[in-house]
Amino acid sequence: MRVVIAGGGLAGLTAALRAEELGAQVTLLEKGDSPGGSFIYSSGYVWSYVDLPTFRREVPGGDASLQGLVLGRLGSCLTWLEDAGGELLARETGNPLTFGARFDPEPTISALVERLEASGGEVLTETAFETLLEDNAGRVTGVLARSSGGAREYDADAVILASGGFAGDPELVGRHIIRGPRRMLVRAHPRSTGDGFRAALQRGALASAGLDEFYGRNLPASPAEFPPEQFVEVSQLYGRYAVAINARGERYADENADWSETALTRATAHQPGLYAYYILDAAGLEGRVREQTAKVMVETARRTGGTVIEATSLTELADRLAERGVPRDAFLRTLKEYNAAIAAGESLAPPRSGQARPLRVPPFMAVKVAPSITHTVGGLAVDAGCRVLCKKDKRPIPGLYAAGVEVGGVSVGGYTSGLASALVFGNTAAESSVSGDPS
Ligand SMILES: Cc1cc2nc3c(=O)[nH]c(=O)nc-3n(C[C@H](O)[C@H](O)[C@H](O)COP(=O)(O)OP(=O)(O)OC[C@H]3O[C@@H](n4cnc5c(N)ncnc54)[C@H](O)[C@@H]3O)c2cc1C
Repeated sequence: MRVVIAGGGLAGLTAALRAEELGAQVTLLEKGDSPGGSFIYSSGYVWSYVDLPTFRREVPGGDASLQGLVLGRLGSCLTWLEDAGGELLARETGNPLTFGARFDPEPTISALVERLEASGGEVLTETAFETLLEDNAGRVTGVLARSSGGAREYDADAVILASGGFAGDPELVGRHIIRGPRRMLVRAHPRSTGDGFRAALQRGALASAGLDEFYGRNLPASPAEFPPEQFVEVSQLYGRYAVAINARGERYADENADWSETALTRATAHQPGLYAYYILDAAGLEGRVREQTAKVMVETARRTGGTVIEATSLTELADRLAERGVPRDAFLRTLKEYNAAIAAGESLAPPRSGQARPLRVPPFMAVKVAPSITHTVGGLAVDAGCRVLCKKDKRPIPGLYAAGVEVGGVSVGGYTSGLASALVFGNTAAESSVSGDPS
């Protein structure tokens, strides 16, 4: 049994090692110069919501059977990762809505690669999967991949696509997500350019729901600069303590719609100019998100060269924002209406969840933020065995599997753990590919 895996992030490494354990001969193709994908930059929390009702409430548009798969298999897959040499940092997530564990990315990746190679698996870096090969009966029989040595075919009984979705492809992101020509910042490694997604669609695969959604964070906007190693640290995760204003000086979203601020980030991606300002007062700056205050995150934005404006009154802040193109009167009207509605306990449009406070205590701050994409939400439609489905008859395409971000539809309308999708779907794809396709 030969299995070829396209992509060496956590999904691909997991699928490769699990398939190898089950007796397959494995070749893992990685486009970059080393495996690891986005896991390297991540916080390392691999988690699920505590039960299905919570999962459905937090992520109502997602595929319920895939959510059930993540929930049901995560515990045993975490044990598998630990047994495979994954370096555990904590056995909890610190969030009462979720359970899971935290792994140290770099040593975990090294351990997976070492085990894979020690048991005879082949890891080929700087080798990019390009297209799927198939026989006359429509069964996937391998891949064509390219390295500096040229193009080469790799035969396989099963191919697992784990190339991480299309966050790094401006054309696909523009078409499906932003619906325009601008470029969204990429908060991930840049190599997931939709290679697996496109190749599968070309073979007749069915796309999942949620192609227009993404998971990401609002980051300090240009001219801020930071390396990928700081993606976690620079994230501006305090919209819940701020009023988010667009270039027209208007509120555009519920700043506190969800704990991960995914809805706010997604809404920011549809604002003119692809940016927003988070407006805070001194009380808001003291707001805490996990172990950090908003003030610390604002200071981080300032340190990276981002735009942080401080003023002693809202009118002064309005003057300073007007210099940057935000209409003064609209801004002041928005803040006045906001403060009045909160003080009177009246509803707002857009609505505002949770307990909000009026912005009254100087100093006032405006921080310019831009949405960034960590990974796509839509991708390939799969069954509960991670078999990629055919658009024509909704049946599995023989020999073709997907794992990680490549599996679409799990987190439509909310946020779920990308690392859990990598770990659980990586294990599942390996197991179903080795056990064979359903008849
Ligand atoms: C800053 C940051 C923090 C995060 N924190 C968390 C967290 O705490 N918890 C959590 O659950 N998630 C987190 N995530 C998300 C998580 O890291 C990802 O969802 C997960 O790592 C995705 O794994 P993957 O293997 O599916 O894809 P990726 O990690 O994107 O891996 C895909 C791999 O495929 C390779 N590739 C692409 N195209 C090809 C090709 N044509 N041929 C061969 N190889 C190819 C890429 O080079 C890459 O190595 C975070 C992400 C970031 C960036």
